[in-house]
Amino acid sequence: MKRAVFLDRDGVIAEVIDRGGRPGGARSFDEFKLLPGVRKAVARLKEAGFLAIVVTNQPDIARGLLSSQDLERMHDLLRQELRLDDILSCPHDNADNCSCRKPRPGLLLRAAKKWEIDLARSVIVGDRESDVQAGRSADCETILIDAPYNRGVEADHQAADLSEAVTIIIGKEH
Ligand SMILES: [Mg+2]
Ligand SMILES: [Zn+2]
Repeated sequence: MKRAVFLDRDGVIAEVIDRGGRPGGARSFDEFKLLPGVRKAVARLKEAGFLAIVVTNQPDIARGLLSSQDLERMHDLLRQELRLDDILSCPHDNADNCSCRKPRPGLLLRAAKKWEIDLARSVIVGDRESDVQAGRSADCETILIDAPYNRGVEADHQAADLSEAVTIIIGKEH
């Protein structure tokens, strides 16, 4: 059984875009920007023996605000730039009542089956309460990236950015 670090995308490895006080993910390929330091952070996870798997809600697909072509271009860029093992996304909105939209753990469970992951020895890094809840439902350890829009959300650990989260994860190995 393998160990994984599940990475939320927006606010963890890619920039969040503030739309009049409502932060969200890029709606076009041109808006999509990686955060500084994420390439090295993911490489450190890989060197420590973890699978690195992106698990992302992309409800702007269901809302007609983002095309699946642009989403695919963003994820091609991620595959080129970062040493990821997989990218799993939920294209649904609440009304679809799917099992994959976080806070539900469907994306993590699907990845666990596909990659033979030991969830109880795995970690999720996210910037939303829904990431923490999905992680808890899947029995993973949880790390919250601090952001102005998530004050008061509690996780097992807090980190300023992915690099600090990776230090927490790898530090526990020794
Ligand atoms: Mg996020
Ligand atoms: Zn879904």
